[in-house]
Amino acid sequence: MAKVIYPGTFDPVTKGHIDIIDRAVELFDEVIVTVAKNPGKTALFSVEERVEMLKESLKGYEKVRVDSFDGLVVDHAKNVGAVGIIRGLRAVSDFEYEFQMALMNRKLAGDITTILLMPHARYTYLNSTIIRNLAQFHGNVAEFVTPIVLKKLNEKFPPKKKGS
Ligand code: ADP
Repeated sequence: MAKVIYPGTFDPVTKGHIDIIDRAVELFDEVIVTVAKNPGKTALFSVEERVEMLKESLKGYEKVRVDSFDGLVVDHAKNVGAVGIIRGLRAVSDFEYEFQMALMNRKLAGDITTILLMPHARYTYLNSTIIRNLAQFHGNVAEFVTPIVLKKLNEKFPPKKKGS
């Protein structure tokens, strides 16, 4: 029974993340999508909101669980009994950071393997920062996020009333 974790900020989850999860469930028995409580990053959504959006977006995914963690990714992987860490690789620009993290995590825990998965080309330019920025200025993000995320973004950035 091979279990993996897919850690990230998910602020908010996008269809790029879901593409990676779709690929991971094809390969592994259980995928734990885990929201990192990263005090160094100021997030738009709270950890609870991010978990809720992931859970709602991944309803019906029988092999997927959603949780959150504080601390080292490799410690969390060990705690839940995962054999690997899934990360997404969009472009060469992601490579250096992911490579460094993978090697550091291997040094910290030699028995936890990092698996890098590439999304469909249509998602290679997509990230949560772009979604937050677009939504803030009322750009249309509907094709890049799930309905629950769209709803939460509209609540954060209510559409302007005419004339105001
Ligand atoms: P982090 O802050 O840990 O990078 P993110 O939520 O931004 O958290 O991303 C989590 C993982 O998902 C990272 O490995 C990232 O490269 C990957 N990822 C983010 N957006 C996409 C996308 N559009 N396509 C594929 N992978 C993605």
